[in-house]
Amino acid sequence: MSENTLLAHAMANYNRTAALLKGEFAEDLLDKMHQPQERSELILSPQLADGKSRVFHAFIVHHSSALGPCKGGIRMTAGVTLDDVNALAMEMTWKCALIGVPFGGGKSGIVADAESLSSYDKETLIRSFTRNAQRHIHPLIYVPAPDMGTNERDMGHIKDTITYSLGHATTQGCYVTGKPVILGGIPGRREATGRGVAIATAAAMVALGGKLAGATAIVQGFGNVGSVAALLLAERGVRVVGIADARGGLHNPDGIDVAALAAYFAKQRKLAGFPGARAVDGQELLTMPCDILVPAAAGNQITKDNAARIQAKLVAEGANGPTTPEADAILEKKGVLVIPDILCNAGGVFVSYLEFTQETQQEQMTLADVNTRLEQRMKDRFAQVHELARERKLSLRQAAMLLAVRRVAQALEARGNLP
Ligand code: NAD
Repeated sequence: MSENTLLAHAMANYNRTAALLKGEFAEDLLDKMHQPQERSELILSPQLADGKSRVFHAFIVHHSSALGPCKGGIRMTAGVTLDDVNALAMEMTWKCALIGVPFGGGKSGIVADAESLSSYDKETLIRSFTRNAQRHIHPLIYVPAPDMGTNERDMGHIKDTITYSLGHATTQGCYVTGKPVILGGIPGRREATGRGVAIATAAAMVALGGKLAGATAIVQGFGNVGSVAALLLAERGVRVVGIADARGGLHNPDGIDVAALAAYFAKQRKLAGFPGARAVDGQELLTMPCDILVPAAAGNQITKDNAARIQAKLVAEGANGPTTPEADAILEKKGVLVIPDILCNAGGVFVSYLEFTQETQQEQMTLADVNTRLEQRMKDRFAQVHELARERKLSLRQAAMLLAVRRVAQALEARGNLP
């Protein structure tokens, strides 16, 4: 395993936590959580619109089902690897345990550049993945959701593929979350991760002795998480001075009109050319002046090479694994507060849990119910993590990991050792 991968970083974070828990749990039990329960590679060969079959690789990892069925999104990127999916599944185990939902951790990856596929080919690929992965996907086994490169439309196609193969109009129980509301999805799920990021950021600003309104922010990523986080931060009075995506960044020290940018992006499918800001390099943007930095795109963005130059006093990890362990140490030394991914972006899986229960119980929840419960849970978990960090003189990441890993270890202990 190379030292600079999502898996190496996930392992380093886990090992540090396991060391803190050594007196509390048996060593073999802590070792158990090091490994996933299952790592699978699927070879898909769907026939695309040009009439030719093409081979795609896909991965599914079930890291732990100690607390419940594995939960975790499907990443569709050209560079995703089985090790990445393993790392992300492990992080989902901790995230579900921390936010307090009865799920374990899982993840899927499909090696394809989602943006370059036509909508017909993407649907075909998603349906092919679902057919091949069907023995893994079940309300009691693994329940997927959107991640980078996938969205609610794709989740609708997953549900349709499963119902079609069962010969039913719908499913009994929830096989996939993040679906369109018309197919049993829940209002507010698409916005939930970004909304949770904004709620956690507000709580952290108060913990730092400041307030959200009037602060400045830079957001990396203008997809599902980044665009919603930027919009909601702006709604709460934050001046969003920079926004970047994979193709470059925008900067305006007086504040970007995020709603106008979202409307521009919806039409143009790019940030470039937006009249209300000047173009800047996306990587440079991370180190430009601001109070709050929200990495909400890919992993490994804040590294030992740029951490010392970060000017923000708060980093809110909307993305999974955006900060390497070396960068974490540099930020800690500089006194930068980091809201770790397993807390900061857990709003998505919390609302997925509400979708799961809504479908299981054949109930209907309103957007107001969803947002109220999300706000309460995010605030509650932030306070719990912050309090433990203060008491034990830990970083927020170490405190969040300690609470999460302890819960999974307690579940494993309660389940016993056989078979
Ligand atoms: P998305 O595909 O909707 O958007 C990704 C965005 O990141 C795009 O704007 C893309 O251009 C940008 N991006 C990609 N690589 C970049 C780079 N190197 N530099 C700058 N920008 C880059 O994905 P998403 O669902 O918004 O997910 C973003 C992150 O949040 C991922 O790390 C994902 O694992 C994490 N996350 C997502 C959810 C969710 O509910 N969607 C939940 C928890 C965590």
